[in-house]
Amino acid sequence: MLEKTPIAIQKILKDDVKTAVFTSLELINAKQLMRDNMTVLLKPNLLQPAPPERAITTHPMIVRAVIQWVRQFNPTKIYVCDSSGGFNFGESNTERAMKESGLKAVCEEEGDLVECLPFEKTERRIYKVENPLEVEEFPSSVLLHDVDLIINLPKIKTHGQTTMTCCIKNMFGTILRTNKARTHAKYPSLNRFTSALTDIYSVSKPQLAVVDGYYCMEGNGPSAGKPVKLDIVLAGYDGVAIDSTVCKIIGVNSGNVKYLAFAEKKGLGTTNQDEIEIRGESIDNIKRKFKIPATIKPVSAWLPRAFADYLARRVFKATITFDNDKCRLCSTCWSNCPVNAISPPKEIKKGNVPIWDMKKCITCYCCAELCPYSAVDARIHLVRNVIFSWFGLMLFGALIVIAAAIVIPILLT
Ligand code: SF4
Ligand code: SF4
Repeated sequence: MLEKTPIAIQKILKDDVKTAVFTSLELINAKQLMRDNMTVLLKPNLLQPAPPERAITTHPMIVRAVIQWVRQFNPTKIYVCDSSGGFNFGESNTERAMKESGLKAVCEEEGDLVECLPFEKTERRIYKVENPLEVEEFPSSVLLHDVDLIINLPKIKTHGQTTMTCCIKNMFGTILRTNKARTHAKYPSLNRFTSALTDIYSVSKPQLAVVDGYYCMEGNGPSAGKPVKLDIVLAGYDGVAIDSTVCKIIGVNSGNVKYLAFAEKKGLGTTNQDEIEIRGESIDNIKRKFKIPATIKPVSAWLPRAFADYLARRVFKATITFDNDKCRLCSTCWSNCPVNAISPPKEIKKGNVPIWDMKKCITCYCCAELCPYSAVDARIHLVRNVIFSWFGLMLFGALIVIAAAIVIPILLT
């Protein structure tokens, strides 16, 4: 009989994160991966500099608990690494994110063995992708190759482009800083970008994942949504199986999370619930429906691909707007848009907002992800888009033909 892939789900009771993490790792017998003198890489989600209460980054208590679990097995080194999006001069966004998220403090408190290190400060190596869907090779940190064990520490969030983010999307953080924007520009459609995500995951595939479901995010994630205290931890070996299980927990149709199908096709894991064994809490006991982002296109999963792509590009294309109360004209959005679809206002003064070019925009949502003040709003204005698209014109034409076909015979009788 086929051996099922185990996923442990544990409730976090009275904020006792450590017990939940340790129990979940015990439930899947994760100690089988460990031996003395290992170097271990922990990969949290450090999307942007933000404090834990905003639920954008992996919670420091989850990271601390995993560090303490790993320490039991006498490692020689524990690295806590990521590369945040965006570009700025001086201190990098990753360094700021490590401080503001509380992860740097946790690493310092856990002793010399633990190092909080931006990927961009490590040596580079070129990684080749086997059987690539889009990305043939990419540069990243040498640590992905050199460490003995990679533990993925993603956070459960909804996502404006990919519907949700957890294990697979978290490893996009191994792409260094501005290369992320280049990847968006090079693979502008959702199909191509999620194929690229899958290629990147196939190279950096972690052996173990501990998922932060302590504070999650719903709505306009991954950075401008609402925090949700779900109070759970998941642990497992198969990131594809974990992501599809998280979809069930948060009420998202996994068919709409395109990278899951690509990852399964590439042999990176399973979405088949018959091949997954849930240990600990049942999904029914902890599930909670999350609000999905206002940008998610409801049709792309079931229409023919060419027509779905057309609708995604024109009819369901999101409009980017800027909140002039929240915007501080910090330049993050226009400095980091991969296709220069945002420019600064003519005058940098309070009340003015950046200028968005709809024709250039590839709806990658980097601007919404990176805005430090949640001042970017992305949503689909369906009626307006229909009116101003070929689809709308054809619909309008068809209505006129139908109306004529009904009215003319009546007039002629
Ligand atoms: S929208 Fe956000 S990122 Fe862009 S300039 Fe304003 S505050 Fe900065
Ligand atoms: S305007 Fe925003 S969503 Fe559009 S391409 Fe630029 S960063 Fe991406």
